[in-house]
Amino acid sequence: DLILFWHRRDLRISDNVGLAVARQQTQKVVGVFCLDPNILERDDVAPARVTYMIGCLESLQQRYAEVGSELLILFNEPTTAIPKLAESLNAKAVFWNWDVEPYAKERDRTILAALKEKGIATQNFWDQLLHSPEEIRSGSGQPYTIYTPFWKNWISKAKSTPAPALQNAIRLTDTEKEAARQAGVVELPTASYLGFIWNNNLVISPGEAAAQAKLATFCDRTIDQYQEQRNFPAVDGTSQLSAALKFGAIGIRTVWDAIATLYQNSPESAQASIQTWQQELAWREFYQHAIYNFPDLAKGAYREAFKDFPWNDNSEHFQAWCEGKTGYPIVDAAMRQMNTIGWMHNRCRMIVASFLTKDLLLNWQLGEKYFMQKLIDGDLSANNGGWQWSASSGMDPKPVRIFNPASQAQKFDLDGSYIRHWLPELSSVDTKLLITGNITPLERASLGYPAPIVDHNQQQREFKQRYQQQKL
Ligand code: FAD
Repeated sequence: DLILFWHRRDLRISDNVGLAVARQQTQKVVGVFCLDPNILERDDVAPARVTYMIGCLESLQQRYAEVGSELLILFNEPTTAIPKLAESLNAKAVFWNWDVEPYAKERDRTILAALKEKGIATQNFWDQLLHSPEEIRSGSGQPYTIYTPFWKNWISKAKSTPAPALQNAIRLTDTEKEAARQAGVVELPTASYLGFIWNNNLVISPGEAAAQAKLATFCDRTIDQYQEQRNFPAVDGTSQLSAALKFGAIGIRTVWDAIATLYQNSPESAQASIQTWQQELAWREFYQHAIYNFPDLAKGAYREAFKDFPWNDNSEHFQAWCEGKTGYPIVDAAMRQMNTIGWMHNRCRMIVASFLTKDLLLNWQLGEKYFMQKLIDGDLSANNGGWQWSASSGMDPKPVRIFNPASQAQKFDLDGSYIRHWLPELSSVDTKLLITGNITPLERASLGYPAPIVDHNQQQREFKQRYQQQKL
């Protein structure tokens, strides 16, 4: 009896809930991944992200081979390709783990119906979250819209241990292989074949082993100082696990297990740091639950005052922001970091998002999309959550949050080393001038660095005024 296991955001064979159940039921478990043209042809796909994903698939194919089975690749509309493959292999069942995104939910409904029609069984599981959206509800059974009560509930719940890794499985026979080929199975293409060119290093190497190594290094060296260091973009003070978590190169239970053990064996100061990091994992789940429960978040503002907000329409300003040429050093350094390596430090994501919305008065959805076009970890839930938080359009009760780029740099890039790294043209500028941005027009001109494209104080007054009017 063959069970086809459909991988989506769980590109691993260890600690994979649905895959482990499939293996309990039969030895003949074969994986499949469908490269979906509906996703790959969208205009918000980042080359770094596709490159990382293809690398994860390559590594997943190796992992399957090591345990005796294989990972098949489809490159077609999943709603037809998955049922067709299952049918041609005479699969007893297709298993997969749920996803929270509106597109995935719709696609899955169609595929469930198609498989049912063909008489093929299905089973689905929650895997990418420690707690499913149904599990974390308020006393009255409602989903949370505010983080703090969500966190209290979430942290109080017992967490599952990692699911057993796939082992000792059986691959397809030659006849089945031919049938799979007939049903559309292809060789895994490269990212460049798909039209995505990424010539830089990736912040995290693809695959399960690399993700586990990254977690181990973070636990050994960084996590106990996370609380103090996580806000300094020049410091390597965060886990850089976001891409691995997005694509499921590591299981969330494995991550939790590692830090829970560490927590028990740590002094109080380190425990506080570990808990701060746990809160970040909870933010990840909060935003995934939010998209699951309120799918309209993906389309626009949550709060009424922002549904019709009079944003500016200024493509030159937007272009300057994208290219890191606003004349505000901390903003420009951050944008160049993302443009170059496909990842940006969280503190800087908040700074540039505030700048786009509160200083340039441009619609946050422009920034949301640009981030998706660049980030290796670009993810609808986290990105939409981050942007709505920064724009003040989301669920967060604090209505107006405005970051002053100069004071952010003074607090979090005290010696200017982050700015100097990403803006080498400013490397000779005196630190105080660099972080306050008080560089004279003459010096800017001689260094080839632009004058500020807007005035922060004036723009924030303008933003507040427009916001007050919207509330009336
Ligand atoms: P760590 O500090 O080590 O955190 C551990 C993990 O917790 C992360 O890997 C991530 O999975 C999760 N996490 C941390 N902070 C958040 C958060 N605020 N919201 C949701 N999850 C979080 N994160 C993404 O994964 N994808 C995105 O597309 C994304 N877009 C963002 C856009 C904006 C405007 C903002 C303000 C934040 C965004 N974030 C996004 C959240 C956060 O910046 C990144 O998760 C983090 O910087 C990744 O680095 P790390 O793995 O070293 O994080």
